[in-house]
Amino acid sequence: MSMAKRRIRWGRILVLLLILAGGTYAACRWLGIGDNRIAIALDAGHGGNDPGATGIIAETALSEETVRCLSELFEADENYRVILCRDYGESKDLNERWQKAKYRGADLLLCIHGNSSEDPTASGFEMYPPLPDGEFHDQSLRLASLIADEISPLGIPLRGNNGVRYAYYQNDETGTEQKILADAPVEELSGCHTFAMVEYPGCPALLVEQGFVTSESDMALLGTPEGCQTAAEAYYHAICSYFGTEPAV
Ligand SMILES: [Zn+2]
Repeated sequence: MSMAKRRIRWGRILVLLLILAGGTYAACRWLGIGDNRIAIALDAGHGGNDPGATGIIAETALSEETVRCLSELFEADENYRVILCRDYGESKDLNERWQKAKYRGADLLLCIHGNSSEDPTASGFEMYPPLPDGEFHDQSLRLASLIADEISPLGIPLRGNNGVRYAYYQNDETGTEQKILADAPVEELSGCHTFAMVEYPGCPALLVEQGFVTSESDMALLGTPEGCQTAAEAYYHAICSYFGTEPAV
């Protein structure tokens, strides 16, 4: 075997090792391994062919704009890294979305939606935590209270108990799944499931209804591009207080 051939083989091995090292490094970065920053998972709800509710604006116009503003705030803050549960405009299965947050090591998940009603006077802001028997219920409630402190001064009414409500899925007598919404925990419904995005990601989590997309006043406050930025700043400041970090803006 000539020396030239041997050199070429060593070269190939070196290239393969470099590719392997680069791939391992990229995978570790993606999973957050060795990254000390706090991981914030942001979910814009619905997506792709599902625009969510439609009113004065489409629900996903509100949720994606808010997530975009919020991810920019966190990306400018060295204490945090952002996990987007789905990309802008992307349609992604609910389970894939919370799994992405969980497997990439989310420390907190915020899922943004907009409410809707046939009654144009229906208005207000809501937050859905995991159910009271869930491991992260109390921490999620603490975050909800900090968000309420930031959102309330903006002028939108807080529904439920200081903005907090509970969602239960229960099968009716025909076996059809029914969603039951309540202003306070319902003991008879303990053991039921709630929204997958807050039940399964393995960290404190809230699903937020950022006003009614069918309400002129709600959308004037939190539905315009400026309103979405204002809401994002409110979530950002609440999350910074939750983790005890100094806001970068
Ligand atoms: Zn929605």
